[in-house]
Amino acid sequence: MHSSSIITLNQAAVNNNLKFLKQKLGSRVIISAVVKANAYGHGIEQMVPLLEQAGVNHFSVFDYTEASRVAQSLEHTCPIMIMGWVSDSDLKDAITRGFEFFVFNLERLNKTFELAKELKIKAKIHIEAETGMNRSGLNLQELKEALNRLHQNQEYFELKGFCTHLAGAESITNYYRIQQQIKRFHRMEDMVEASGFKPEVIHMANSAAAFVYPKTRMNLVRVGIMLYGFWSSTETFIHYVNSKVNKTDPLQRVLDWKSQIMALKEIKTGEFVSYGTSYLAQADIKTALIPVGYSCGYSRSLSNRGRVLIRGHRCSIIGVVNMNMIIADVTNLIDVEVGDEVVIIGKQGDLEIKVSAFGDSSNQLNYEVLAHMPDKIQRTVLK
Ligand SMILES: *Cc1c(COP(=O)(O)O)cnc(C)c1O
Repeated sequence: MHSSSIITLNQAAVNNNLKFLKQKLGSRVIISAVVKANAYGHGIEQMVPLLEQAGVNHFSVFDYTEASRVAQSLEHTCPIMIMGWVSDSDLKDAITRGFEFFVFNLERLNKTFELAKELKIKAKIHIEAETGMNRSGLNLQELKEALNRLHQNQEYFELKGFCTHLAGAESITNYYRIQQQIKRFHRMEDMVEASGFKPEVIHMANSAAAFVYPKTRMNLVRVGIMLYGFWSSTETFIHYVNSKVNKTDPLQRVLDWKSQIMALKEIKTGEFVSYGTSYLAQADIKTALIPVGYSCGYSRSLSNRGRVLIRGHRCSIIGVVNMNMIIADVTNLIDVEVGDEVVIIGKQGDLEIKVSAFGDSSNQLNYEVLAHMPDKIQRTVLK
């Protein structure tokens, strides 16, 4: 291990998760693998080949840079859909390279036509409808205007899709709002078709929506979190598993995160450990220094709360999380040595630290914990 910690990705888990999703969503629904935020912290360059190997042939990203990274990581070309940010200066390259992208306002539509004309290449667009999240997308008025402009510029685009995004399908609290969004979306979809356009795919579902509101699956589902082995929320998992005889989780976590002990130290009763005075040794203790800190995504809110696995035991993080280091209490581990494996996320012996446990003690969402793991951590793949 050259880097201070290492993330291992497991092909078998990816295969398992994809098989489960295909089985549940049916063979007619395209699964677009969402690999934004560096593939939810897993690493685009490592994750894309694993997904491709598992049979994924449609990818979604947030921005142009991620789309380029996906394109470079693919063995075979397949659609890459940008759901968010493309700067005006990248839009030209996005069109040239055949990336699909969301058109979320009229300015973006005009700019697209302007460049497509200049390049003499049809832009591959997804018209995004504003249905109630109030984040991005064309409202009813703007959609009418957009349809006019589409009619005037027929030779400059391919209508790859018509889509929207739901404002929190993972929580029943949002039930009414989601139902309203679905209704509005269908009205707008009817408008598009009434004006003579036939988008190749219609899509609105993320992981949660695909399971909680099956009608939202339509032709394509944009699946992120579940590919990596997590449910969008505990509620979503319970919603699924309640109706099943077998209550075990069908998803498998793709990622493990490990480090090692960098140094050991004996601390006398009455001494403070790490910065400040948040941890006072109540007895003579032994500590292990671990080269992972908040710069690696190990949240500062895990100070005095986190747990790691060492020699098959759960050990407490004591004192505050530093930028590059944490300290664990290893007083009860007789044979502990420098170089011993430290599991931050994953299994060791009979014990396991899940991302959710990590999140529970720091009030972070799974999404957030994952997305905070930086590029600089070394990744390896377990085939
Ligand atoms: C992130 C994202 C998704 C995927 O969401 P998951 O909850 O991870 O499945 C789908 N659609 C859009 C627009 C997104 O931004």
